[in-house]
Amino acid sequence: MNVIELIKKKRDGDELSRNEINFLVQSFTKNKMPDYQFSAFLMAAFIKGMNVDETSYLTEAMLYSGKVINLNSVKGIKVDKHSTGGIGDKTSLIIAPIAAAAGVPVPMISGRGLGHTGGTLDKLESIPGFRTDLSLQEYKNAVKKCGVVLIGQTKEIAPADKVIYSLRDVTGTVESIPLITASIMSKKLAEGIDGLVLDIKTGSGAFMKSLKDAEILANSLISTAKAFKKEVIGFITDMNQPLGNYIGNWFEVYESVLVLKGEVKGDLYELCLSLAGAMIFLGKKASSIEEGIEISKEMITSGKAYDKFIAMVKIQHGRIDVIENPVKYPRSKFSEIISAKKGYLSSVNNLEIGMAALELGAGRMTKEDIIDHKAGIIFHKKIGDATKKGEVLAELYSDSKNKLKAARERILRAVEYSDKKVNGPKLIKKIIY
Ligand code: URA
Repeated sequence: MNVIELIKKKRDGDELSRNEINFLVQSFTKNKMPDYQFSAFLMAAFIKGMNVDETSYLTEAMLYSGKVINLNSVKGIKVDKHSTGGIGDKTSLIIAPIAAAAGVPVPMISGRGLGHTGGTLDKLESIPGFRTDLSLQEYKNAVKKCGVVLIGQTKEIAPADKVIYSLRDVTGTVESIPLITASIMSKKLAEGIDGLVLDIKTGSGAFMKSLKDAEILANSLISTAKAFKKEVIGFITDMNQPLGNYIGNWFEVYESVLVLKGEVKGDLYELCLSLAGAMIFLGKKASSIEEGIEISKEMITSGKAYDKFIAMVKIQHGRIDVIENPVKYPRSKFSEIISAKKGYLSSVNNLEIGMAALELGAGRMTKEDIIDHKAGIIFHKKIGDATKKGEVLAELYSDSKNKLKAARERILRAVEYSDKKVNGPKLIKKIIY
């Protein structure tokens, strides 16, 4: 096959075949094609798009560039969840143990923070001793023994995605629906799952700002999952304000534990019930999402979900004393309160809230940055809440006074108030089967 002809074919908007896409991906991944040629292909795909078949072929080529884990020895229908990322989005920590407690095995390979959004691995690593770098054998053993495991990507999983993503990052080709789809699905399909729940975020703190773009991404992810014969349910959910009240790695573990113990309700709890309900339904332990939601509630009230979380932390070498007794966890040296104005909280620029958390040390500004696990924000109000002058809007925590100042400015810029009552955004915008 001739690389230049294939680049021209995509440039002219023609469809590439399975063999042609496989040839391009394999050549690049095995170092047989220079960066400039694969960059040209990526840009052609970005501009001209790829149809459902081409997207599946790209996913397939990236998936089989590495190992596909076989979990046939684990009984039951294995289900995972993927979120496109947001601020305060800690649902994985809550729903994985809920579904596992309900008898659905959950093998989860997660990512780190990306841009202004937090990452499940960074959150879990805030638990002293917690290991996200289990080998694939340890991963299999953990899911067999405990029913749930949460690890990071290993070098055996979709290695093509690693090299392609790095090139996309520096060639202006990240924000492409087919390229995002293949990147996400190649990693998820390698986990050994039978079913997948997708949480596609939309709003000011999401990568997909508009509902229309979120729907296009959802449909692309769903059709690709179906092409690989996976059961899939897609949720489009709100990211116009932080999910829950806590942002920052340890803070998010802390809030997850409160939800798992049934001690807090609200948007985070509601979304977790629905996502876990869908996982339990896909895992055939409920006959509908609604029944799955009822089972999820029961897993929380009976303490089974919390016990499963503790079992997972133990099997992944995390210390449970800080979970059981969070006052033992180190605290930031400095904190500051931001007061609200009188009125109704009418809008939040959630991207700025995510950036403020990053500013405090909860995320990385550069690849080399080391995360301060205890840094973060407690954001007390939701859009639509009535606020009194001087009431606490947010608490900021950091080891640096300068960082507190920078974060404070971002938060003050991010919020707006109204004299009139406003409605909060709808949490679950759409469920697509
Ligand atoms: N997350 C991924 O894993 N890949 C993308 O391309 C975008 C988000």
